[in-house]
Amino acid sequence: MPFLIVSDIHANLEAHQAVLADAHGKYDRIVCLGDLVGYGADPNAIVDWARENAAVIIRGNHDRVSAGPDGLESFNPAAQSSTIWTRNALLPESREYLQRLPRGPLPYEGVDLVHGSPVDEDEYVVTSSDAAPLLAHLEAPLTFFGHTHRQGGFRLARRSVTFLATARRVEVEPKYFYLVNPGSVGQPRDGDPRAAYALYSPEERAVEFRRVAYDVGRAAAKIRAAGLPDFLAARLHEGL
Ligand code: ZN
Repeated sequence: MPFLIVSDIHANLEAHQAVLADAHGKYDRIVCLGDLVGYGADPNAIVDWARENAAVIIRGNHDRVSAGPDGLESFNPAAQSSTIWTRNALLPESREYLQRLPRGPLPYEGVDLVHGSPVDEDEYVVTSSDAAPLLAHLEAPLTFFGHTHRQGGFRLARRSVTFLATARRVEVEPKYFYLVNPGSVGQPRDGDPRAAYALYSPEERAVEFRRVAYDVGRAAAKIRAAGLPDFLAARLHEGL
C-alpha cells in the first residue's frame, strides 16, 4: 500500500483537507516532511492532525522558528510577521509538539526524509546545480525533500542530473539516486495553485505526483481575517 507524502502544509486547512479527500483510500500511512505551520491561519488544527495521524514526521524551518527561540533574521518581512503571529496563536501543546519534532535526515522504511537538503534543513534545492553536489550525501536510493514548495525533483548519477517530470509516474531505477519533492500542500510556488502531494509505493518502487484544487478563496480570506500579511493570501491564488 502506498505512503501519502506531504510537505509544507503551512497551516492551510482547506488545502490539507482537499489533499486528504483526494488521497482517501489510496494510502496506508502518512509521511510528513515538515513546515506544518507558518503563513496560514490554522496552525493548531494542522498540528493536531499531524500528532494523531503522521506515521513519521520531521521538522521544517518554520516549525523550528515558530516553536523555538531562534531569531527571524533569515526570514523576509512577510515570513517574519507570520512567524510572530504563529508564535502567539500556537497553543502550549502545539508548541511542545513542534519542539519535539526530529530534524532530518531521518531514515524511514528504506527511504530518507529531509526538509531542505541532506546537509542543511534550510537549503533550497531548486536547480540541477543545487542537486548535483548532494549526490555524495545521499544514503538511501530515494530521498524525499520539501522546503522549495515546488513539486518534482531530480534523478542523480555520478555525471548527470535529470529533472523529474511531474506529469509522469517516477519509477525508482536501481542505478540512480533520487531526490523527490511532493510539492507544497498549503502554499505551492511552482505556478500551479492547486495543493500538491505525492503517493509512494514501496512495492512498486514508484512515485506518483498529484495535484488537487481546493477553496483558495476561503484559505485566503482566513489569512486576511487573521491579520496576516495580505501578500500571503494573494500568493495562494497565483501558486507563486
Ligand atoms: Zn515551507
